[in-house]
Amino acid sequence: PFDVLVIGGGPAGASAAVYAARKGIRTGIVAERFGGQIMDTLGIENFISVKHTEGPKLAASLEEHVKEYNIDIMNLQRAKSLEKKELVEVELENGAVLKSKTVILSTGARWRNVGVPGEAEFKNKGVAYCPHCDGPLFEGKRVAVIGGGNSGIEAAIDLAGIVKHVTVIEFAPELKADSVLQERLFSLPNVTVIMNAATTEITGKDKVNGISYQDRATGEVHHVELEGVFVQIGLVPNTDWLGDTIEKTRMGEIVVDKHGSTSIPGVFAAGDCTDSAYKQIIISMGSGATAALGAFDYLIRN
Ligand code: FAD
Repeated sequence: PFDVLVIGGGPAGASAAVYAARKGIRTGIVAERFGGQIMDTLGIENFISVKHTEGPKLAASLEEHVKEYNIDIMNLQRAKSLEKKELVEVELENGAVLKSKTVILSTGARWRNVGVPGEAEFKNKGVAYCPHCDGPLFEGKRVAVIGGGNSGIEAAIDLAGIVKHVTVIEFAPELKADSVLQERLFSLPNVTVIMNAATTEITGKDKVNGISYQDRATGEVHHVELEGVFVQIGLVPNTDWLGDTIEKTRMGEIVVDKHGSTSIPGVFAAGDCTDSAYKQIIISMGSGATAALGAFDYLIRN
């Protein structure tokens, strides 16, 4: 059996695997797609000490670093279920069952898409999902934020300080964000809030040049000219496969403590699949290191 089996090959999983392997213990990593979300990222400017890189380049460096160690890499494999017996058993979609003394879950998350024409086409060409990452790229420009929940309104307030103008588009007749955020939002001079509006299309040629929405009360379609669209309708953790074997939040995020421990002894978790407050590369890597050290600590005590 493995000493540490990591499920997920993004920044959190790669970091966890390297930290575990450096303890000289038997380490494996299973990944549906090595690299994770950064494979879909163009510019990265907040991975501290690296002024600028690109997602696929960072993913290649992660893989190179993991390969420096004696780590059993099982790429293009999807975990299907997890069960705690004497050891932790992880069944893969291909039928194989892997056994390990400890497991680190780092299966990440995915942004919920609005699913309108133009969204996929203009991804990284004006369509963005992460204001902390891509906000500065729209300095002095006009953007829309789709979604009036807490993350949408936080994004709108954040962006209003950087961009020229922000249009918030909310499907429901009212914003769902906390009232303190709404008050702050409505105090800003360069924000327009449109409620009861269904986004119908993100328009553009080589890159985004506008957004169309339908007023749900009148049925009328309007078009707003702008350069960027931030989709903020939810980040969904990839934790369905765990069923209710493990404690999760209402949002499906795995609950972890400061050692990265979950509700199952010997099972740890890190990165965007957990209830960590913020989801970023550098944070995922830090929590991957924490989970690996937590797992090592568990091994020497059990
Ligand atoms: P992920 O990167 O999501 O990796 C999850 C891993 O688990 C993948 O290997 C996946 O294939 C695998 N997996 C999932 N389910 C299973 C399963 N059942 N079995 C096996 N493997 C599974 N952050 C920044 O700090 N700066 C940026 O500039 C930035 N830009 C971004 C731009 C975009 C478009 C996106 C989508 C995200 C961006 N982020 C950015 C966020 C950052 O990418 C994430 O915070 C980070 O990748 C999370 O790492 P992770 O390892 O927790 O999860």
